Amino acid sequence: MTKFKEPFFRVKLSDQLIESMTLAALEAYVLGDQRNKKNKEKIETLGYIWGFRRIEGETVNLYLDRMSLSLSARRTNGSVTPHEHAAELKHNLIERWSPHLLLLGDFHTHPFDDLTEVKSNSGWDFSQADLDYLDGDEFLWEKSDQTPVNLVMTVCRLGRVRETFSAEMCDQNLWQFDAGEFRFWLNVNVGFVNRDGDRRQTFKDKSGVFLDLNTRFYNMPGDRIASHILRDA
Ligand SMILES: [Zn+2]
Repeated sequence: MTKFKEPFFRVKLSDQLIESMTLAALEAYVLGDQRNKKNKEKIETLGYIWGFRRIEGETVNLYLDRMSLSLSARRTNGSVTPHEHAAELKHNLIERWSPHLLLLGDFHTHPFDDLTEVKSNSGWDFSQADLDYLDGDEFLWEKSDQTPVNLVMTVCRLGRVRETFSAEMCDQNLWQFDAGEFRFWLNVNVGFVNRDGDRRQTFKDKSGVFLDLNTRFYNMPGDRIASHILRDA
């Protein structure tokens, strides 16, 4: 069992995962669940995420690689409820086909009518129900080796579409980006067990995680990657 004093999580996502999550959020927002008369648009949706983890001291690098949308989840405008066996069913296949991957977490969406509604509700944040659910998700804690990840993607339609060049970091754990007339926010929360054996979450602690969404070409002032090698050459 992995226990930490004060872990710091660095979470990176594959481009393919960002694309899959955005497609799922968009479809659930625009088209909803056509089988259900009440939920023809703006419903929440949910998927499971696999990836890799590497620990260096108290720093935990999480690379979230791919996801599978859950078709059996019960989806409405204000909530999404997973089928109790969905995670296990998908995990059982992936551990046979791709045993190098860890089931690291899940993602779900928060649809809102417009920007005003998102802002007045802090719609990009995890709800108390989200935090409570993660706390008690025994299967996910076990399979992720005690570092379960929760991602929430919030989406709304924009009234006016301005030119944007890249995703924007709103906070250490939160980014936003636009696609056409839609705005998306991506927020991450990671669970961990401290040395006292208590379950904690980075979102509740308001620290301990960096969502590294779009920083490959950011260069720190004074950074060096070859000084030692060049000196010896
Ligand atoms: Zn939620």
